[in-house]
Amino acid sequence: MQRYDIVVVGAGPAGLSFARAASAEARVLVCEMQASVGGNTFSTWLPRDALPGELARAVVQRTKEVKVRGPKSELASRVEGVVLDWKWVVRLLALEARRRGAEIWTSSPAKELLLKEGKAVGVRLEAGSWREEVRSEVVVDASGCSSEWSGLFPRLLGRKPKPEETVFSGEHLLAGADPEDSVEFHFGSYLAPLGNGWVHPFGSGFAVAGIQGLRIHPEASLDEFVAKVRRLGRAAPVASTRGMAVDVSLESFCSDGILAIGGAGWQVLALSRGGLLQAMKAGEMAAKVVLEALTEGDVSKEGLSEYERLWRRELGPDFELERALYSALSRSWDRNVERLLEGMEREPALLRDFAALLAGVEPGRAAKKLLEVLG
Ligand SMILES: Cc1cc2nc3c(=O)[nH]c(=O)nc-3n(C[C@H](O)[C@H](O)[C@H](O)COP(=O)(O)OP(=O)(O)OC[C@H]3O[C@@H](n4cnc5c(N)ncnc54)[C@H](O)[C@@H]3O)c2cc1C
Repeated sequence: MQRYDIVVVGAGPAGLSFARAASAEARVLVCEMQASVGGNTFSTWLPRDALPGELARAVVQRTKEVKVRGPKSELASRVEGVVLDWKWVVRLLALEARRRGAEIWTSSPAKELLLKEGKAVGVRLEAGSWREEVRSEVVVDASGCSSEWSGLFPRLLGRKPKPEETVFSGEHLLAGADPEDSVEFHFGSYLAPLGNGWVHPFGSGFAVAGIQGLRIHPEASLDEFVAKVRRLGRAAPVASTRGMAVDVSLESFCSDGILAIGGAGWQVLALSRGGLLQAMKAGEMAAKVVLEALTEGDVSKEGLSEYERLWRRELGPDFELERALYSALSRSWDRNVERLLEGMEREPALLRDFAALLAGVEPGRAAKKLLEVLG
């Protein structure tokens, strides 16, 4: 049996941001079920002025224009952006976490949360005939919400998303794509009810096309979407990924000896169904609180609850406002998307705000302005 101060389950952006922030001051083990770190996103697009400097090394493409296509009309505007290779972002986080002393075990799925008198005291890792019990003062659930083994913390609370609360996402990396330097967002119930599709270039000759929504079939809907996008006419998928997100929130993010960050805490933005940047911030916030709790010798729910207070104060308003916009749009999806497009035509700066919101950048600020358009 091995002992650490902290075991982090999942080496996605949340878990590795946590490990990077905590590893200089505590013994941290990150266990990842897959053979490589990184979660299941290929890439992400960001407005250029929102690119965090530390992620500049992962830029694979610059874009010049954003297009939003609604059920009936479409708009384009000059908004400079960058496409990041997400695998690189996560590898860079892993590098920094490792340099600060974190241990990172890949191919190491956590199959069970170990409890003693209701307090989390470690995890049982298991792959094939290999089994290992790892004990720790604190377990950080950063296992996302995409796999059947994700979500140790929601399971502890007895929470499992219902099928109608589950959002599917799928992405293709396509070869032979028209190298247009724009990012496109597509909306319409015909495509993805209460969701959207996106396309952006990914280095010369490649593009990424993705789709997310409630009640969609991730593969079939994605193939239909790709077939509809003119610029992707002759491109073919060379890699695909899919994932799940949840359309509901958890009432709490911590319990005795355990807390949940990012997707594992169901911290998913309602409209974009994203949350990469927020997962990284949650990881950093949680690290600060866990280190303090270890120093104070109080890793009870009360000792860890400062994380929840911080999250609700600093990230909560973004999630609430973005959800308010999603709820307003949902009342009549196609009609309200068209009303947003009309608003963006009158005030072109709103298109940049909408694109930023879809990329998870300051979503609360943009949502507030867009809610005014819907009245
Ligand atoms: C196709 C797709 C495209 C997306 N595009 C965007 C985007 O452009 N912008 C954006 O903001 N968001 C996007 N998202 C959402 C984004 O991926 C999530 O918000 C983000 O990954 C959450 O990070 P995380 O670290 O919490 O979880 P994840 O990235 O899901 O990482 C969790 C990690 O835990 C591992 N794991 C799971 N269970 C266990 C276990 N039991 N033991 C050990 N390891 C385990 C997983 O293998 C994974 O590596 C997209 C999602 C998908 C599926």
